Amino acid sequence: MKITDKIYVAGHTGLVGGAIVRLLKKKGYLNIITRSSEELDLRDQKAVFDFFDTVQPHYVFLAAAKVGGIMANKTYPGDFIYDNLAIQNNIIHAAYKNGVEKLLFLGSSCIYPKNAPQPIVEEYLMTGVLEPTNDAYAIAKIAGIKMCQAYHRQYGCRFISVMPTNLYGPGDSYNLQNAHVLPALLRKFHEAKLKEEHVVTVWGTGKPRREFLHVDDAAMACYFLMQRYESSEIINVGSGLDYTIKEMATLIKKITNYQGTIVFDESKPDGTPRKLLNVDKIKNLGWKAVIDLEEGLASTYQNFEQNYFYYTNPINTKNLAIVHV
Ligand code: GDP
Repeated sequence: MKITDKIYVAGHTGLVGGAIVRLLKKKGYLNIITRSSEELDLRDQKAVFDFFDTVQPHYVFLAAAKVGGIMANKTYPGDFIYDNLAIQNNIIHAAYKNGVEKLLFLGSSCIYPKNAPQPIVEEYLMTGVLEPTNDAYAIAKIAGIKMCQAYHRQYGCRFISVMPTNLYGPGDSYNLQNAHVLPALLRKFHEAKLKEEHVVTVWGTGKPRREFLHVDDAAMACYFLMQRYESSEIINVGSGLDYTIKEMATLIKKITNYQGTIVFDESKPDGTPRKLLNVDKIKNLGWKAVIDLEEGLASTYQNFEQNYFYYTNPINTKNLAIVHV
């Protein structure tokens, strides 16, 4: 990517898109292109085709998606499948029609089979049944990966797909109904401390294991792969370490300096028992995560505290939680 190339980051108001824009700016890129969802509805095919015709980006980071935690996926499966299929169909096809040099599509570790052996290697995609709480999202993302591979095979497009693990960091969604576990717990513990509540409720049994990666590490990986990876085969991006939800709750209790106790609400779903990526493939190419989990969470908490009114404003949380377009 030349410093003057036009680089379109779709989904720049979301967690990953925001981190990619921060990184590209830091690296001095001069033509970073973004559009808010008010300016360009990515589900609208004509609008997307017109945008590509006019702007002619050279590179595309496709970080726009409808994303959310376990409850959001369970509650809005129709929105998750429709919006994601529409967004990716429109962008991938427009990128092909307009001769985009290279496109990076974001998959997710949660689209591997529910009971995949751990740690998960890339070859396990589509080898078993999906986790039912997010199967609609997973089918859409799998379709996006297949579309990139099909366009690579048929038209020679340089479209690559990346599989990030659970991400966290500045710009996340803190809407308790829709958020992922780490932002949800940061908010719950923080508010319980302010209100001097004696108990914080954590969903599920606390036993599921999850791997976490700071979004700035994920952005570095996307940038690295955009320059260095040419295969249409998916590639995992993770820290290679996982923890139980109970361990994470205990760590967040410490970071937020909350003095009360933790209880588990087992009426809430656990989801997949374990989700840990094998990251040998990307490590062998020369990339690894550098942000320590405790330090990353502490700085994320600081960012949350500093922007508390923004993150907890229902107008912002509604946008952030459901549509990262
Ligand atoms: P998942 O990785 O797709 O299952 O998505 P999440 O990040 O939403 O949830 C991960 C795990 O954390 C699940 O086992 C949840 O039940 C558990 N969890 C515990 N407390 C919370 C909470 O307050 N919010 C969310 N989203 N998950 C929680």
